[in-house]
Amino acid sequence: MTDTVPSAVSYVVVGAGIHGLSTAWHLAMELKARGKGSGKDVVVLDKTGPGAGASGIACGCVRNLYMTEPLHAILRHSVDVWSYDPVALGFQQVGYVSAGEANQLADYEKLHASQNRVGYHSDLYSGADARKFLTKIWPDFKTDGIDVVLHEKVSGYAGTRQAVAGLAQKCADHGVRVISGVEVTGYDMTGSRVSRVRTTKGDIKCDMVVLGLGAWTPKHWAMLGHGDTIEARYPDGGQVKKDMWTYWRLLEGEVYVDQPYRSAADLDPPVLHVELMNTPVIDQTTGKELADHLYVYWKNGAERMDRPGVQGGTIPIKIGPKAVTDPYGHDNDEYQAEAQFADYLTSAMGQLMGRFETSRKDFRERRNGGIGAFTPDNVPIFDFVRDNVYMIADSNHGFKMTGVGKLLAKLLAGENRVPELEPFALSRFASGKTFGASNSHCPWV
Ligand SMILES: Cc1cc2nc3c(=O)[nH]c(=O)nc-3n(C[C@H](O)[C@H](O)[C@H](O)COP(=O)(O)OP(=O)(O)OC[C@H]3O[C@@H](n4cnc5c(N)ncnc54)[C@H](O)[C@@H]3O)c2cc1C
Repeated sequence: MTDTVPSAVSYVVVGAGIHGLSTAWHLAMELKARGKGSGKDVVVLDKTGPGAGASGIACGCVRNLYMTEPLHAILRHSVDVWSYDPVALGFQQVGYVSAGEANQLADYEKLHASQNRVGYHSDLYSGADARKFLTKIWPDFKTDGIDVVLHEKVSGYAGTRQAVAGLAQKCADHGVRVISGVEVTGYDMTGSRVSRVRTTKGDIKCDMVVLGLGAWTPKHWAMLGHGDTIEARYPDGGQVKKDMWTYWRLLEGEVYVDQPYRSAADLDPPVLHVELMNTPVIDQTTGKELADHLYVYWKNGAERMDRPGVQGGTIPIKIGPKAVTDPYGHDNDEYQAEAQFADYLTSAMGQLMGRFETSRKDFRERRNGGIGAFTPDNVPIFDFVRDNVYMIADSNHGFKMTGVGKLLAKLLAGENRVPELEPFALSRFASGKTFGASNSHCPWV
């Protein structure tokens, strides 16, 4: 990795997270393939370094459990990227299993059909078949209350360190310069175009800017002259003035296990996600009710652990339109998960599987906090926000979405249209296509 900032370059990518790196790598390949340039025309800048934002601390789940159907195609492309070089990118294609109560059956049927329409293969089970499917993988699964299961076969998870290192290496392999320790401090505008990116190491004249800024997106949105509220119009004619950005903090942690976490077939089990809207969570130590519904996910702790264990989490907590982004993640005292989260996570896990019934003592006490900036409808915005500035704002659930960079690279290299990206345009709010609510307690819809 180099640290000399060029005075001029065609493409400046701001942020070396999943999106910035994936875009730069794919852009290098697209430019070359179309005879329009190469990785030498692309520079990625990061004020700290690759993986310094959410991409370096994510749980790493790669799944497609979304009611927002246009996301299914984005994830199809993303799994193609993850599978392009699964070793370099740390991708474990173990599948993803989500389970719910009867009130989610109709939703699951819809999303199962949509996933399969775009070639994202999944199986749906209901009633006794659903419960049998779970106990076949996890014999100690306590399936009371579970009526529906979706098995996404091509999903899985990736270790974040490995994924970021792998993407940075792909950039380097294709001649892209990834420059650490350079902060973008402003944008010089000529009309509605950015002519120069201002940085702490000098200005860069450029033709195109890509923002992959995670939790720092709102700051640059304001730097580019945009406001902090937006009118969101819905398909039913409703209209609501909303904060443009809302920060949430994630609740995640790790639990040690005595033996490696394996399935009945002695394999790395699928990532598991369970939402039981009518089932309270009871504290495994005190017997008190902790919540009136259960929402939990977990997977093999793998890269994150120092010995066998699992990594998981629950619904994030809303902060509001303002948050402190620096220091970020585990270093920020304000946004770490509190002890009650450990009670909740381990109790919910113990309610679902015999092996976790007394797991509170096995919770790994360490920092795990991380925040993200969500969009007005909690669905990503992928669009130009100035004539030559493209913003990838994934609403803090896009570690999995490596395919966005692949699709965007086509657009930036000259393709007229990339239909998969179009539903995520900023204009959806003004044109009555704001995405709607879902039948879930979670903001990721
Ligand atoms: C705890 C946690 C768990 C998560 N788990 C999952 C999960 O399991 N699956 C999933 O799909 N998603 C998950 N997410 C969401 C996912 O991690 C993010 O949506 C995604 O990583 C965002 O990637 P990004 O490239 O947009 O931004 P980031 O990874 O945040 O990168 C932004 C980069 O911009 C740099 N930067 C900031 N300001 C400047 C500046 N002025 N100049 C230059 N550089 C700058 C930062 O240093 C940073 O490296 C999780 C998020 C958190 C916080």
